[in-house]
Amino acid sequence: MERAAREYVSGKGVNRGRIVLHSDLNNFFASVECKKRPELQDFPVAVCGRREDRHGIVLAKNEKAKKAGVKTAEAIWQAKKKCPHLVIVPPDYDEYVRYSAIVKNIYSCYSDRVESFGMDEAWIELTGDIRINTLSDGEKVAHKIRNRIKEETGLTVSIGVSDNKVFSKLASDYKKPDAVTVFGPFNYESIVSKIDIGEMLFVGRSARSKLHLFGLNTIGDISLTNEIFMKSIMGKNGMKIYHDACGGNISPVCRIGERATETKSVGNSVTLPKDLENIDQVKRMIHLLSDKVAWRLRNDGFACRTVCISVRDTSLVTTEKQCPVKRTSNSIEIAHAAIKLYEQSYDITKPVRSMGVRCTCLVNTKEHVQLDLFDDKQEFRNKREDIDAVIDKIRLKYGMKLIYPAAAMGTNTTLANHPAFSHGV
Ligand SMILES: [Mg+2]
Repeated sequence: MERAAREYVSGKGVNRGRIVLHSDLNNFFASVECKKRPELQDFPVAVCGRREDRHGIVLAKNEKAKKAGVKTAEAIWQAKKKCPHLVIVPPDYDEYVRYSAIVKNIYSCYSDRVESFGMDEAWIELTGDIRINTLSDGEKVAHKIRNRIKEETGLTVSIGVSDNKVFSKLASDYKKPDAVTVFGPFNYESIVSKIDIGEMLFVGRSARSKLHLFGLNTIGDISLTNEIFMKSIMGKNGMKIYHDACGGNISPVCRIGERATETKSVGNSVTLPKDLENIDQVKRMIHLLSDKVAWRLRNDGFACRTVCISVRDTSLVTTEKQCPVKRTSNSIEIAHAAIKLYEQSYDITKPVRSMGVRCTCLVNTKEHVQLDLFDDKQEFRNKREDIDAVIDKIRLKYGMKLIYPAAAMGTNTTLANHPAFSHGV
């Protein structure tokens, strides 16, 4: 074993004293579907994109479908061939976002450093909590979180506990479902070092096959090389893999809302099965899209300073326009900016085939806000924020579809039958 790994095993590595959890919701999409319709529980289930959208592939599957050999990203017909009784259900992203937010709220009871990794995974850093000093303290917290999520949502998670992000992710993958696994210096030689290098975060398929060419198959094999050698065969990435394999990944877990610089924008768009024919329909669509974008912004702890819209007309030309706004995460403010943009920049008599609303120039809402003394709308804005907080609570508890901006509803009953609205977008 080379120096870096020796240091790690002897407990003198760079991550000494850190406690990092990685939590992964098991079969997330499929589990949510089985919760919605408990009668599905006993069948193999796959969540698949709609055929007519040409997304007829498996997005997620439950444990029973997995056992039958169904794989994510394969075509529905391939899955059906292996598993003729497979139940196919369409995705319900609103519901996944909602569960994801509920679970994130649970994580944030244990730390202010919670970093999401996709909709179903997150790191939670416990370092610095005076009650939590060792990996086994971290393990106890992991079990608490696992039990709480199960009780409050009915979903199961696998949690990895380690002293760095890469190994905690590796640990959460090691045992599934509904499990807690601890990886640290104490079991590095007996377990961690024997894991295939391809399982490690950021080691893609091509890196893996290149390493295999050099006879480097496991994490332990990498730990026997050294930085100079790894750099010579794979450049900077090789050095990174070497350090990560030796328990030396020092990247911190971001605070909620801290990823503003990495998350460049939050957007939502829709292609309509039937064109929007007039400004009234367009306005309602903008309200619906803005509502979802705003909810996602707030969920991630962001506000925006720029609103963009993209519009594709029936000649299939897409154009995008943007405008600056006062820092906001309110759906009505975003929608008003988007509607103004639309009215100013497009020929509003033309039908619309597809459109999107996107927010950029994101800022962390926990950051200090400079209030404008002469802004007479500030009080109004505070009230809107209070309303948003209530809406968010209602949605977390009862579902996305229960509460919608009235402006998106309209009064004309013939519009209510427009396919774009009946799908809930
Ligand atoms: Mg998962």
